[in-house]
Amino acid sequence: MKKLTIALAGNPNSGKTTIFNNLTGARQKVGNWPGVTVEKKEGYIKKNGYNLKIVDLPGTYSLTPFSIEEIAVRDFILNEKPDVIVNIIDSANLERSLYLAMQIIELDCPVVFALNMADIAKARGISINKTKLSELLNLPVIFTVGNKGQGTELIINTIIKEAESFSLSPKKRKVKYNREIEYLISNLKKNIEKKSLSLVSYPKRWIAIKLLENDKDIIEKLKKIHQNKIDDLINLADKYRARINFFFKDEPEIVLTDDRYGFIAGIIKETVFVSIRKRIDISRNIDLVLTNKFLGFPIFIFFIWLMFELTFSLGSYPMEWISSGVSLISSFIDTSLSDSIIKDLILNGIIAGIGSVIVFLPNILILFFCIALFEDTGYMARVAFLMDRIMHIAGLHGKSFIPMLMGFGCSVPAIMATRMLESEKDRILTIIITPFMSCSARLPVYIMLAGIFFKDKAGTVIFGLYLTGIFIAILSSKFLKATLLKGEDAPFVMELPPYRVPMLKSLIIHMWERSKMFLKKMGGVILLGSIIIWFLFTFPQNIQFTSDYSKAINDIKIEYSQKIASSDKTNKQRLKKELKGKIQIIEETKEQERISKSYIGMLGKGIEPLLAPVGINWLSGIAIVTGLVAKEVVVSTMGILYGVEKEDLGNAISRSGMTCLSALSMMVFVLLYIPCFATIITIWKEVSINWAFFNLFYTTFVAWTMSFLVYQGGVFLGFG
Ligand code: GDP
Ligand code: MG
Repeated sequence: MKKLTIALAGNPNSGKTTIFNNLTGARQKVGNWPGVTVEKKEGYIKKNGYNLKIVDLPGTYSLTPFSIEEIAVRDFILNEKPDVIVNIIDSANLERSLYLAMQIIELDCPVVFALNMADIAKARGISINKTKLSELLNLPVIFTVGNKGQGTELIINTIIKEAESFSLSPKKRKVKYNREIEYLISNLKKNIEKKSLSLVSYPKRWIAIKLLENDKDIIEKLKKIHQNKIDDLINLADKYRARINFFFKDEPEIVLTDDRYGFIAGIIKETVFVSIRKRIDISRNIDLVLTNKFLGFPIFIFFIWLMFELTFSLGSYPMEWISSGVSLISSFIDTSLSDSIIKDLILNGIIAGIGSVIVFLPNILILFFCIALFEDTGYMARVAFLMDRIMHIAGLHGKSFIPMLMGFGCSVPAIMATRMLESEKDRILTIIITPFMSCSARLPVYIMLAGIFFKDKAGTVIFGLYLTGIFIAILSSKFLKATLLKGEDAPFVMELPPYRVPMLKSLIIHMWERSKMFLKKMGGVILLGSIIIWFLFTFPQNIQFTSDYSKAINDIKIEYSQKIASSDKTNKQRLKKELKGKIQIIEETKEQERISKSYIGMLGKGIEPLLAPVGINWLSGIAIVTGLVAKEVVVSTMGILYGVEKEDLGNAISRSGMTCLSALSMMVFVLLYIPCFATIITIWKEVSINWAFFNLFYTTFVAWTMSFLVYQGGVFLGFG
């Protein structure tokens, strides 16, 4: 039987021992390397008429004689001359692994590359062209996954084939250095060949390289055997070293190492395709634009504008469908049920309440879709980067901007998103100020009031409200940072993950999860709120009215029927209209009196003194109170309070005595006061009950103060 010695070489942790065990099974012998306490493992296997002795060499990163392991490996290869060296390579760290590989190749013996950890490389998006690698280096290359035993058989077969072919015709392979160095190497090599040194069994090119590198171990070995016979060789090498030093302004060892890495870089470039690396490169190019000093910010503002534009213009279509769907349902119920208190509850409580809120579902879906898009593409991280400098004005980091931006959607997921902040102080600060970012639930209130009182300036007013929210958030942050949340900033890395093309599925999941919170709110809190409000609004019944409204209506009807009968055709129409208007006014007056004597009216009257200084009347005050349930309820309450028909709401509110100034004051109040119960509970869960209470009082205080300034300031300036 022919004997073959096989050595397994490689970096530590490349999987040598694993593959050694795969190859040899239990047949192994553990000992020490001669003279040193480095463990040496040997095992034997029989295959195809060969008796293979497998040696597990110590793991090293190079063969420079700096450590006992490195010398042990080098001496073994030089002295024992294994028939094949299997270089176990960590495919996930190919560049690092190839440094040792280059040094093994320079030792001129048969080498097989086992690209181990192929699974990890694949998972990291690294793909290695093994055919190309094999061609470039002129040696067999195989893939293995050591811990799964994949490629064991292949290694054995490849070893035997390589041993056979190498013994027939040794392959030429070399690591190339730059021209100057190559010239010196070949000169030295010629000089070595001229002397018949007994170390001839070492490859001569290799000895030349080692002499250039001033390798003490080799020089000593040479001196020991040949004494002064090699003095002139050493002198020549010294001369060359000085020359390299002169040319390259660096030690020869460093110049040669650089050249090896250059050679490796060339190999990597031709054989490795890293999809992740590529993504990072593309990301860098995109970042040149998106995080550009001058362009970044305008682009960001444009995206935000686009987001709101999409949310409201695109959302207006499904909004109308839902709105007409709701009317359809309520008119169906109106005609199919006979009048009763239950019908009243369903129609004026549940449907009026939920209906006025559910129309905003499309807006919310679109808004959350846009936010998910920002997150999943990786743009959100850039926004944090862009905003960093501005956020520092508020004493915060750019990262805090992300939850704040999400706060435009809904404070609840926004507060949960603060978990990504490293510093607890920053987290609390961000949580407290995020509710000042005007959430989507407040928008219906603005749309309604600004639409009624500011008409074509509504957009500007709403934009101003959003800015006010941001401004108050910054001021609050500065205030809290100076008082309750003092402390030094801890530095941290703002990571910029590569851009990704988002997956529609994950976008939809993200959007849906957040929208689900909205729907839950609707199903639970808002439904309950609507029913309670309806109850407070409808009871007690049997109210004693101060005047007989039905008689008043009757009187007017009689008065007008006489007028109409005695007038000509054209006047008839005008008079009929006049009559209708007068009846409506009487009915509204009656309704207002009824409301003022209902439970909710008592509540509204109760808080009237508190809200009078900010210009909010008792009817709107009721909406403010019910808005604690959820801000959407402000609108639905107004719907219930002023009569359900949407088209008439504007007129009804105007007639109730609200002015532009008090409407503005009310919007400011809605913008700033207590977020909603869901938010308060989230703060409680995410931070503590104390901070939840703090937020409750702080926001109410800020809201009242700001509204007071707006209203009294307006009155002072003569806008009242
Ligand atoms: P050595 O230092 O070169 O002897 O490496 P070991 O054989 O001790 O292996 C180091 C670790 O890598 C062990 O936990 C092995 O289970 C694991 N390992 C070896 N080969 C592979 C492989 O191909 N893929 C993966 N994922 N892990 C491997
Ligand atoms: Mg090992």
